[in-house]
Amino acid sequence: MFLCSYNAGAGCGRAVVRREPQVVLEKSEALVLRGVDFSQSSRIVTFLCPQRGRMPCMVKGVRRPRNALAGALDTFHRLEIVYTWKDSRRVQQLTDCSLLEAYDGVRDDLDKSMFASLPLEIADTVAHDNEPSRELYAALVAGLDGLNRWTGDVRSHCTWFVLRLLSVSGFAPAVQECCFCGADVTAAPGFSYEGGVTCGRCPGEASLTPEDYAALLAFSENKDSCPPVEAGPELFETLCSYASHQLDRTFRSVRVLDQMFGRAGAARRGGRQ
Ligand SMILES: [Zn+2]
Repeated sequence: MFLCSYNAGAGCGRAVVRREPQVVLEKSEALVLRGVDFSQSSRIVTFLCPQRGRMPCMVKGVRRPRNALAGALDTFHRLEIVYTWKDSRRVQQLTDCSLLEAYDGVRDDLDKSMFASLPLEIADTVAHDNEPSRELYAALVAGLDGLNRWTGDVRSHCTWFVLRLLSVSGFAPAVQECCFCGADVTAAPGFSYEGGVTCGRCPGEASLTPEDYAALLAFSENKDSCPPVEAGPELFETLCSYASHQLDRTFRSVRVLDQMFGRAGAARRGGRQ
């Protein structure tokens, strides 16, 4: 990232102190989290940047025919963006961008693109405006890179992806010991949306099969890429419910996934049975 003041003679660098309203030109790598039309010609695109965190940007003229930036600003795209930053405004101003990675392997695969919407929503929820998000950004890029190449079960990869984002943002569920009392758990533990796996004595809203618990352990141990482990749909749905509870948000992408793929684990979600 570079910073240059618009005021002539100021030089570059964040250490420059001035009393005039700060309007600086910055460049950063960014991922497109979402976009919404703002007017007949403009659009507000929300980026995740390593340094600035979540950053909504106004893109003027992007809805006009043959606009040079229009094709680059789709969700999932990893870009290099140039924008003007002003401390006093919440929505910044995009001036230019270039495509670094389109993730065609995600975009061209309906299942992958549907499932990948959830990590984007989670990142949009946990990231803060104007707060460095390097670890979250790196996890999102690693997850998209992995999914782009992934040839296995898409839901399993997304389960690992969701777990990674929860972990780097401070919402990792307990996986080794009971989240309530710290006791050892069985090979088929319970699961509480309050904190993670549970022992036989502590309450939980779901339960894990031995296979799904083994997958959860493998996913939590592999931070760089999804291991070749296939998890059942119940583990994905349990983690989605955990994420919704922890982040206090109903995820639109989960509703869409439910409509598309059904809720295989629904019968087990009402409690331990
Ligand atoms: Zn316990």
